[in-house]
Amino acid sequence: MNVPATMKALQLTAPGKLSAVELPVPQPGPDEVLVRTVATTICTSDLNDIAHNPFGIALPRVLGHEGAGTVAALGRRVQGFQPGELVAAHPVIPCGHCENCRRGLAHLCARMGHLGLDRDGTFAEFFCIRADRVRRAPVSLPAHAASLLEPVAVCLEAVQRGRIQSGDSVVVVGDGPFGILIARLASKHSPKTIILVGRHEFRLRQVPSVIAINEKDTPNVLGTIRAAIRMATSSATSLRSQQPSLPLPAQRGEGWGERPPGLSQRTSSPRPSAPSEEEREETSFPETFGRTFRGGAGADVAIMATGTQSALDLCAACLRARGRLVVFSALQGRAALDLFRLHTQELEILGACNDQDLIDPALERLADPALALASLVTHRVPFGEWPRAFELARGRKDEALKVALIFPETA
Ligand SMILES: [Zn+2]
Ligand SMILES: [Zn+2]
Repeated sequence: MNVPATMKALQLTAPGKLSAVELPVPQPGPDEVLVRTVATTICTSDLNDIAHNPFGIALPRVLGHEGAGTVAALGRRVQGFQPGELVAAHPVIPCGHCENCRRGLAHLCARMGHLGLDRDGTFAEFFCIRADRVRRAPVSLPAHAASLLEPVAVCLEAVQRGRIQSGDSVVVVGDGPFGILIARLASKHSPKTIILVGRHEFRLRQVPSVIAINEKDTPNVLGTIRAAIRMATSSATSLRSQQPSLPLPAQRGEGWGERPPGLSQRTSSPRPSAPSEEEREETSFPETFGRTFRGGAGADVAIMATGTQSALDLCAACLRARGRLVVFSALQGRAALDLFRLHTQELEILGACNDQDLIDPALERLADPALALASLVTHRVPFGEWPRAFELARGRKDEALKVALIFPETA
């Protein structure tokens, strides 16, 4: 393959300043693959890096860490790839030697490399990546979908950390691209119901068969979540009591996540009438000691997919006894948490950061037509029009989810 001497790239030169520059095409190291970028998707973290460089990236740096493209050249020790084939890249580069790596927790590596952070990333016509972090894309997968490899992998980690099981009630708080992805991926685990809480009608519509709650027009979000879970539970129970051998709805298309009667998609309130005594009790906050031991309707798993105190409050409050709270989006610094409720309800809190060897399962999910994950890329923008792509990703939450920069394919 003909590799030119220079390439176009987007470099962060100072906080707030992303610039199109001409750079030498990087040479792959002995264990690396040189990829000619076909598609690269913009991540929320790219937007944060551009705005205020929270990780203190040494500048200038080519940003971007979600990318797919064709193999352009191979380092001398690399085998198993053919020039020209489409590959997806995972941006995390574990060192392989630190204590966490040796414990099998390479995703929490103490000396982790990362595309777009400590080395140049995917917002460029070419990028280099260690070969063990690259996979051949399934033939059915377009490049803009293959570039979602890492976001899908990290969202799978959140689902796995939550140990979502058949029949669980799952609440996802946050309707950004990650929250949407997590809700879609959770559907593969046959939960009884998935409730997605967010603030954007367009985004809340992106997960079929969930109960979507728009916080902006729901006065009592916690009460609405509990009412939805109670209705889903009672409809499942009454079905089973009519027909004892009938299992819980097991998979998509057989009724999981169907809305309980009376609860509309993107509901503002499932209760036309005044709340019952029980409901008033359940939604009063802080809860009473007596209420704590009575239990009540609640979620088995709550996934925090937006980093705010109110999201943490909602996730912790909506869980039932032994419920699991997955912190996918973090809050900076200390956060307030009701430890009394955590104690009396035996709640669990689990962090989810990067992914533990989920590259191959993520590719499987990407190739799964039932999940239609490629549809999360709402906009494909030619690389030359990159300012428009970033504007869409940053400011158009009512029409854009994932925005991909697309490079002209040249043989
Ligand atoms: Zn990302
Ligand atoms: Zn390591």
